Amino acid sequence: MSSVTQGAATDAKTEVKKTAVDGKGEHKLPSNFIRQIIDADQLSGKHNRKVVTRFPPEPNGYLHIGHAKSICLNFGLAKDYAGVCHLRFDDTNPVKEDVEYEESIKEMVEWLGFSFTENLYYASDYFGKLYEFAQHFIERGLAYVDSQSADEIRANRGTLVEPGKNSPFRDRSSEENLRLFDEMKRGLHADGAHILRLKMDMGSPNINLRDPAIYRIRHAEHHRTGDAWCVYPMYDYTHCISDAIERITHSLCTLEFEAHRPLYDWVLERLVETGKLPAPSPQQIEFSRLNLSYTVMSKRKLLELVETGLVSGWDDPRMMTLAGLRRRGFTPGSIRLFAERAGVSKAHQWIDMADLERALRDDLDATARRAMAVLDPVRVMIENYPDGQTEDCSAPVNPHDDNGGRRNFKFAREVFIEREDFMENPVKGFFRLAPGTEVRLRHAFIIKCERIEKDAAGNVTTIFATYDAATKSGTGGRNVKGAIHWVSKVDGIQAEVRLYDRLFNVENPDSGEGDYRTYLNPHSLKSVNAWLEPSLANAKADESYQFERNGYFTPDRIDSKPGALVFNRAVTLKDGWKPS
Ligand code: ATP
Ligand code: MG
Repeated sequence: MSSVTQGAATDAKTEVKKTAVDGKGEHKLPSNFIRQIIDADQLSGKHNRKVVTRFPPEPNGYLHIGHAKSICLNFGLAKDYAGVCHLRFDDTNPVKEDVEYEESIKEMVEWLGFSFTENLYYASDYFGKLYEFAQHFIERGLAYVDSQSADEIRANRGTLVEPGKNSPFRDRSSEENLRLFDEMKRGLHADGAHILRLKMDMGSPNINLRDPAIYRIRHAEHHRTGDAWCVYPMYDYTHCISDAIERITHSLCTLEFEAHRPLYDWVLERLVETGKLPAPSPQQIEFSRLNLSYTVMSKRKLLELVETGLVSGWDDPRMMTLAGLRRRGFTPGSIRLFAERAGVSKAHQWIDMADLERALRDDLDATARRAMAVLDPVRVMIENYPDGQTEDCSAPVNPHDDNGGRRNFKFAREVFIEREDFMENPVKGFFRLAPGTEVRLRHAFIIKCERIEKDAAGNVTTIFATYDAATKSGTGGRNVKGAIHWVSKVDGIQAEVRLYDRLFNVENPDSGEGDYRTYLNPHSLKSVNAWLEPSLANAKADESYQFERNGYFTPDRIDSKPGALVFNRAVTLKDGWKPS
């Protein structure tokens, strides 16, 4: 699987330089086919040169990395063209929706760095208008109440090669349709007894245009409108009208809606021609959805993982939900960078998980504070260093920032190093610690391994060493090839560190070959007891640290407490993932 998408490659060729003010000075915007459409509209003066986009989530789950692409695209375009982007809840299905989802969606859009305070909308606020427009369609002979059973409707829809058949109820009078629709609304009919359909063309080669359903009966409480309605509008009908009511200029959606566009346009044209809605209508533009390797993205599957306890919740740090990524230690900047690099195209887009990890490293390298942490500790006793004595050592908080200050820690007789930084029988090219060899403890002294002690199972329990007092870091003098991180017992902190791996073992767990759950990686979470340098004592969630040589880490926002820290590793420092 290539990490470069076809679409991104094509876009790069046509890249044009453009300057936008984003508060951070100049910013180079790669062009793409959507920008070209908007640029043309700006030139022609369509939509009065305004750009109004929207991100329309259905509050039936948590947002995932695919949604982030859509959020960054819609809010990003609005920002670049000095327009606005609406956050609109597409809340037309009372059965699956919930305020918990709504709250988390708002929180994650804000976390990504986008504001919608004055631009928060709900499709459910348009229920009145949508109903009135449906009556208008009925009055014009463009909609009818169909009383066929669901099975009959399915059977009469036809297939890709066969036209559909007209419903026996298609020619009901407007009066009868209006009366029935009113009764449906008032709850006088059972779920499924009738639906309202547009009268389009049962012979259309496009199945979406074969008298699509626009209203169904649902005796269900809606989390915002309560029991005011017993009929609820369908997505295709609701979406275009909501866009038009909000004067959206460019309505961006994923490719599977391409075949629905004629319906989108048909509904709006008929409401514009009678002055029910203003012109010009919004333009629906489709782009390819983002697919990420080693994960599943469908909300149904994410919900299943949560409900069956295969993960700890929607915000499990292994989940590719935004809540999970945040908890794991991904930054909003890294996700925006990832979305920007993914680009916009109509080509089928598969992106490698490694690209997401790279975006985090690129975002954090320059800014993250550094610290030393030993994840798999083995004890080192420095026999020629006096017991009870300590030596102050320090290191830059961030080597890329001269004004970032320094962090302090103490060298002492008993320190911990990483078990893998010692080899009893060193292989060629191993420059770390081995019997009789020297290594530098970073930011401190050179030590030499004199002998080791092992337990009955043959594991090293203590390394006995001597230090060279003339080699303190920063004082000039001699050096050695290897330098390893360490933490001393006297001022180190013990903490739980959670090391994550991909949740699935295969690139496409969703390929359809067998149940995706059979590809779960049993080694996706490993918890270790680590030693951390003292500067981490007050670390907080939302702060990112580079643990020297070990990766980027962040305190767990749920489980980490002062005095009982829990860190998550977001990524290692280098690419090089292999299936475990
Ligand atoms: P479903 O409709 O099955 O519940 P969905 O992923 O389409 O799932 P929505 O809440 O409707 O969920 O999505 C909100 C917006 O996010 C839509 O405009 C949708 O096109 C966009 N979106 C969803 N998944 C992706 C993806 N993988 N890549 C890009 N955009 C996406
Ligand atoms: Mg959807």
